[in-house]
Amino acid sequence: MPYNKNMHTTGYYKEPGPKLDEESPFKSMMERFRFAAEILELDEGMFQYLASPVKQVIVSVPVVMDSGDIQVFEGYRVIHDNVLGPSKGGIRYAPDVNLEEVKALASWMTWKCAIVNVPFGGAKGGVRCDPNQLSRNELERLTRRYTANMLEVFGPDRDIPAPDMNTDEQIMAWIMDTYSMNAHKTENAVVTGKPIILGGSHGRKEATGRGVVTVTLAALNKAGIAPNKCTTVVQGFGNVGSVSAKLMYEQGSKVIAISDITGGYYNENGIDIPEAMEYAKKNDNSLEGYSEADKITNDELLQLECDVLIPAAKEDQISPRNADKINARIIAEGANGPITANADSILEDKGIMVVPDILANAGGVTVSYFEWVQDRQGYFWTEERVNRRLNRMMRAAFDNLFNVREEHDITLRQAAYVFGINKVATTLRMRGIYA
Ligand code: GLU
Repeated sequence: MPYNKNMHTTGYYKEPGPKLDEESPFKSMMERFRFAAEILELDEGMFQYLASPVKQVIVSVPVVMDSGDIQVFEGYRVIHDNVLGPSKGGIRYAPDVNLEEVKALASWMTWKCAIVNVPFGGAKGGVRCDPNQLSRNELERLTRRYTANMLEVFGPDRDIPAPDMNTDEQIMAWIMDTYSMNAHKTENAVVTGKPIILGGSHGRKEATGRGVVTVTLAALNKAGIAPNKCTTVVQGFGNVGSVSAKLMYEQGSKVIAISDITGGYYNENGIDIPEAMEYAKKNDNSLEGYSEADKITNDELLQLECDVLIPAAKEDQISPRNADKINARIIAEGANGPITANADSILEDKGIMVVPDILANAGGVTVSYFEWVQDRQGYFWTEERVNRRLNRMMRAAFDNLFNVREEHDITLRQAAYVFGINKVATTLRMRGIYA
């Protein structure tokens, strides 16, 4: 079937996508999935197979709070797919986590792992809670009970969690310990993103931001822009945002704006990122009161004129509401799903090159794979080796997708879906359907 720019609105499959709702990352994912499926001429059965998660688990997580009262939280784990290998994906803690969101994030992990060529399927988990309202002990009890409820799901050969929004190395350590206690042996390959002393990998913490910058540099190269002549805007100053900002700064880019939950900070002459990181570290991980830049709103930040925009905060930040006001030449999605599907064509018409999340932020899961390999071998690599291999794999993934993009005359995002879906579908055809 020839490529047709409007194909994704034609409803080729029996169930045309529901009208897009900006709030649902799952709908955004399905819209893009459907488009790629049409290019690949996937048959209806294969389409249904790949659109349906393998397993969706919802558990109640009762926790004895410090007050002595019991509070019950809801926990999720969705395994979207395990055709390429054990499923892999982070766990997030947030007040608005829900099954639809986790389903979308799990399927993004499937395509992400296929794109960077790691032998994993896709999964995601979450607990609906407000981690800021929980004490450290409550957080530990919640994590351990969630893990205990997932003992049949998790496993180094089955399903391997990792950090995501509001979860960190300490939480991974509790997951590993709880799983190991129940297995009656230390099982460090059951989770990645662990502290190095527990079998974590050098370079894992910085891996997502490092990968974002590797593909951003590749995109700048295609656009003929020198990194030391470009301006960068970064939304979000958590792990991914701050590392991306720091590495772009080290490349000589002028990072003119950064932001966190307290708002945007803009300096047309460029922000000294190591200094801003130092400030945030001393200030309870917040940029509040940072005086080396002017305060701007989140909307103003996204609309700044720049060469590179890195949305590394959360989902649904660029939608038809503001897409036509974006003034970047390249957008590299550090977060998962920061651009809604119905904003894609607006950005495309403006000639903006979008490096999609399932490529741009795949550095995290790539080094998670390295961590899992090291744990299973009991042999650990230097940071230099990790970074070198990470750069190589991200660069190869970018080049592969760029070729698919040229071949079909589509966007890089569409190429990412085409490549990822094709790989999983081809593997599935060889394995066949177990009956
Ligand atoms: N949560 C990260 C992601 O969305 C990392 C997942 C992993 O390392 O398994 O890619």
